[in-house]
Amino acid sequence: MNAIPAPTTSSIVATTSANGPTTSAASGASTAVQNARRIERLIQGQATSDGAGVKLTRVLTHELQRRLDPFLLLDVFATDRPGDYVGGFPDHPHRGFETVTYMLAGRMRHRDSAGHEGMLTPAAVQWMTAGRGVIHSEMPEQQDGLLEGFQLWLNLPAARKMIAPWYRDIPPEQIPEWRGPGVVARVIAGAAQGVAGAVQRADTEPLYLDLHLDPAAAFEQPLPATHNAFVYVYRGTLAVGDASVALRHMAILANDAGSDGVRLTAGAQGARALLVAGRPLGEPIAQYGPFVMNTREQIHQAVQDYNAGRLA
Ligand code: FE
Repeated sequence: MNAIPAPTTSSIVATTSANGPTTSAASGASTAVQNARRIERLIQGQATSDGAGVKLTRVLTHELQRRLDPFLLLDVFATDRPGDYVGGFPDHPHRGFETVTYMLAGRMRHRDSAGHEGMLTPAAVQWMTAGRGVIHSEMPEQQDGLLEGFQLWLNLPAARKMIAPWYRDIPPEQIPEWRGPGVVARVIAGAAQGVAGAVQRADTEPLYLDLHLDPAAAFEQPLPATHNAFVYVYRGTLAVGDASVALRHMAILANDAGSDGVRLTAGAQGARALLVAGRPLGEPIAQYGPFVMNTREQIHQAVQDYNAGRLA
């Protein structure tokens, strides 16, 4: 593996959250949304590449880390050109947060420095807690065809950034689903309509839903006003209240005091979308590439530990 150069002061992206820690109100699963959130901002994302030349769209970028605390990154990959993905993501480190990879199409093999190995298949999720550190690879297990999916980064609170690494491959049949009129909600994390998701996290109470909506179908989700939330549309179009969200756009949902949830309605073609929300940590964020800590000193330590072989 290649050594990572020591960061300069300006290469560490450091931000402090505007939103302090909060406690969420108890949310009854069947409570109707009375005061739905509005869209604060629409985001199209930036074409970029990562790993060994994998082309992707970064929808949640550095600039949005504070606004969408505790979420740090959302990458969307969707291509049927092998040259865009065959290089994959060879051995690289992480420290201080969690990665959630959700596949829609294609296969990706995961290996890490602790000897774990797993295969991501369509509709499966891999939830990895990097904690104090892992070195892993994420490599497409195909030479052609469509590769499509998402990687979301979820921050860990300061007190838990150095916990032991952990991961879980969640096959499609272990992701709970709620079905209503014209709606399938795959509940990856949190809970929807009384259905508990595959993963729960007490620190940030993440909600991660994959919503499949028939044309004009509607879905409501209670959300504490203090939780940061967004919707990403990857098929069709939908509306948040009366405002529409175009294909391949993210809508950041406003945190207006008194709002109690979100109401989504699919357009004429139907829609598929991710709904993601969580309780902000309100802690400083210091990021240098694959390390996300709270201070510059911790970033320097992470780079030193990696270069000295202490992350493996
Ligand atoms: Fe990775």
